Amino acid sequence: MTQKRRLGIMGGTFDPIHHGHLVAASEVAHFFALDEVIFVPTGLSSHKPDQRVTPAEDRYLMAVIATASNPRFSVSRIDIERSGPTYTVDTLRDMHALHGDDNEFFFITGADALAKMLDWHDTEELFELAHFIGVTRPGHRLADPGLPDGRVSLMEVPALAISSTECRDRVHAGEPIWYLVPDGIVQYINKRNLYRA
Ligand code: ATP
Ligand code: MG
Repeated sequence: MTQKRRLGIMGGTFDPIHHGHLVAASEVAHFFALDEVIFVPTGLSSHKPDQRVTPAEDRYLMAVIATASNPRFSVSRIDIERSGPTYTVDTLRDMHALHGDDNEFFFITGADALAKMLDWHDTEELFELAHFIGVTRPGHRLADPGLPDGRVSLMEVPALAISSTECRDRVHAGEPIWYLVPDGIVQYINKRNLYRA
């Protein structure tokens, strides 16, 4: 039997994508020997129902711009094309339907998101669909939230105290986001006039 490919999935709102996301994915890809990491921008985020979120197409294009130069990174439209709020269990079900035959799945998540994982939908099924990799994030404690044995790994990654919220607030206040996000993202935000109004 041929060995399965090792496929990382990094879900997020990516409003906008920043270097914290990219470093996390790159580190996990290296240390878990992943063949590919697919970034999956959310449709309407189930975790952020009350928050105003930038149109999915802009968030998707920023993810494409930020990952274009990395041969191991790609971006999927599956969550933005499904109607309704995004639940990770749907993301993983769809990924299995598309790539399940020859791939093993690794879902990458920061410490803050991991801590809330037991509140996610259909957690029992979730644990069967992927191995979860929780990574450190400044300001958050990284711990196994009580997943079944062997379903989660915890990993330290270089600490980048960057959040999309702070990037949006900075743009809104006329402050720079150079070097917090890839250059192409600064330019795309300017071109599309995001986060200003
Ligand atoms: P927001 O402030 O809008 O919530 P965010 O920076 O938290 O944005 P998300 O799109 O919510 O970004 O996060 C997607 C995933 O990336 C989550 O699993 C989150 O924990 C992880 N992540 C985000 N920023 C970092 C970071 N600086 N270091 C490690 N992981 C991160
Ligand atoms: Mg977040």
